[in-house]
Amino acid sequence: MSVWAILVAAGRGERLALDQPKAFAKLGEDPLLAEPLRRLDESEWVDAIVLVAPPGWEEPAILLAEELGCGKVSACVPGGDTRADSVRAGLAEVPADALVVLVHDAARPLLSAEVVERVLAPLSEGWDGAVPGLPVADTLKRVGADGAVAETVSRDGLWAVQTPQAFVAEALRAAAAEGGDATDCASLVEARGGRVKVVPGDPQLLKVTTADDLAKIASWLA
Ligand code: C5P
Repeated sequence: MSVWAILVAAGRGERLALDQPKAFAKLGEDPLLAEPLRRLDESEWVDAIVLVAPPGWEEPAILLAEELGCGKVSACVPGGDTRADSVRAGLAEVPADALVVLVHDAARPLLSAEVVERVLAPLSEGWDGAVPGLPVADTLKRVGADGAVAETVSRDGLWAVQTPQAFVAEALRAAAAEGGDATDCASLVEARGGRVKVVPGDPQLLKVTTADDLAKIASWLA
């Protein structure tokens, strides 16, 4: 089975308010991108990697991959305006004979070998895709622009979904080709009737959105 990983790193990261894109924010000594890239490259399950860089940052991204000795990086392409567009740009570099595509957010640096194994396993049991998730622990409320609670939403059966997300390559290609936007790849596959399984995620797969998230992840790494 050939597994191609797409590492989407083209987000602007406006809430970090830095001069450079989020993927190049510092996590310890290195750019944030270094950690998930190295971990994907070291994964025994991943055969090749397509790196989706912020437009104009392809060269620093390639240099970083070379510095880290990430020999599985096969292409580096500029991302698009939305995450879904960035995934489409990455998919265009995945060869037709790839069987499985694993899409991961560079903003979730603490990728573990266990989670990669957990999302790949259901694909050999007939699922079109598998995603890591955590059951929602907090009470959920829909809130209006003025701060007023409109309703309390039952959290029964609700999961917060993370990446890496694994798909049968054909299922993701067909879903992505329909266009459309979504905050994750699984929603595109689900929208076409694809069967996606949720497997246990990892609290350490926290997505970096704010400077506090970066500090928290840095402390976990220390
Ligand atoms: O914006 P958000 O935090 O949901 O981004 C999740 C991941 O998608 C990040 O790794 C980010 O770099 C990537 N992304 C992208 N292209 C975009 C927007 C987000 O590659 N246009």
